[in-house]
Amino acid sequence: MPLLSGIRHCLPLLCVALLLTGCGSPPPSPFAGATAWTGARIWTGDDEGYLEDTALIVRDGKVLALHRGDLPDDVQVRDVSGQYLIPGLINAHGHVGMARGLETGPAIHSRANVEAQLQLYARYGITTVISLGDEPEQAFEARDEQNPADPHGARLFLAGDVLHPPDAASARGKVEALMRMNPDWIKIRVDDHLGTADKMPPDVYGAVIDASNEFGRPLASHMVTLEDAKGLLRAGTHLIAHSVRDAPVDNELIELMRERDICITPTLTREVSVFVYAERPDFFDDPFFLKAADPDVLDALQAPEMQARFTGRAADYYRAALPLAKANMLTLHEAGVRVAMGTDSGPPARFQGYFEHMEMAMMQEAGMTPLEVLISATRDAAECTGVGDQVGTLTPGKWADFLLLDADPMQDIHHLRRLTGIALAGQLQQFDDVPHATEHR
Ligand SMILES: [Zn+2]
Repeated sequence: MPLLSGIRHCLPLLCVALLLTGCGSPPPSPFAGATAWTGARIWTGDDEGYLEDTALIVRDGKVLALHRGDLPDDVQVRDVSGQYLIPGLINAHGHVGMARGLETGPAIHSRANVEAQLQLYARYGITTVISLGDEPEQAFEARDEQNPADPHGARLFLAGDVLHPPDAASARGKVEALMRMNPDWIKIRVDDHLGTADKMPPDVYGAVIDASNEFGRPLASHMVTLEDAKGLLRAGTHLIAHSVRDAPVDNELIELMRERDICITPTLTREVSVFVYAERPDFFDDPFFLKAADPDVLDALQAPEMQARFTGRAADYYRAALPLAKANMLTLHEAGVRVAMGTDSGPPARFQGYFEHMEMAMMQEAGMTPLEVLISATRDAAECTGVGDQVGTLTPGKWADFLLLDADPMQDIHHLRRLTGIALAGQLQQFDDVPHATEHR
């Protein structure tokens, strides 16, 4: 045997010998340098309940493992006994940076406003938001510069300008122009605003959907009616972005949605926002709302001339449509169509963070179980919006975005308000009103 090769063969034996005699340091464990969150009841985002006696192992911002049994010494332990640990919530239909308080328009567009809204979502446990349209360019800058391993606010995905080409021939050019911003989604509005505008005709939305497919982007559709929803599904939309609000959903719609596993974001709180400020809403006394509310905005919304703006034809229509929207959501859900929690928060008086909790409470009130609402707001919201490979469940390889709660959300979805910690990429965020359940061993 040549000398060099002989030495190589001997080296492993030498290492074993050193270990046995206690020389040298022990080899690193598979969890070396990781953090183990221990003592909590963990829900990973699956169809089952909690894992007990299991540690969530996080390294480099991502879930490394779910581990039962003893932990090696080279892991940092964070004891969160008594807490419930669940994936961060995902809003599948929000809007970021388009309003500030009750104002909209270019004068209020700023990077600081975008960042503040991402912080606001995160403070309420919304760790990812899919912003479906009309964002300022500063929102794209924020997305592009967001460090996924330390995002400092909700993770952001964007649609950009809502497209309304005048005819089918110009559709492709509009999509191509938008591609300069690298949108995650394309968004269209197919609606006549209660008969006050022209509805986008099927050949036009068909051409936008075809162009979106050509550029490899999914398309989300704003619509109101059952017939428009069906037309959009036949044309190939990838998301129904609001509830059907003019008629009960039927088997034809259910089949069209199930055929290609297309999801719906009910945005029930969007309907609420159209009429609720005609009088002083009850939630203006809710401490969970008030902790982030701007008193000037609340004053403005209680001025009589402002209250009058929340009355009239649109207010009456959507107030009357809300019970139908809820019933349709439940029918679709029970028929196996996936409901992705989405609120349409972000425009004036649709309060980011708080409205997501109101939406989930309304979903529970409509008849979904707390576990079904949780799945809708985590795994399904992620999978329905194309980000399920990154977030939505606490699965090895995904970002460790999670919430700590001191009450069980599977008993009552309102317990999602009992936040004691909010982690993005495994790092607890600092919010004055969130106590941060952490004890170092
Ligand atoms: Zn919207």
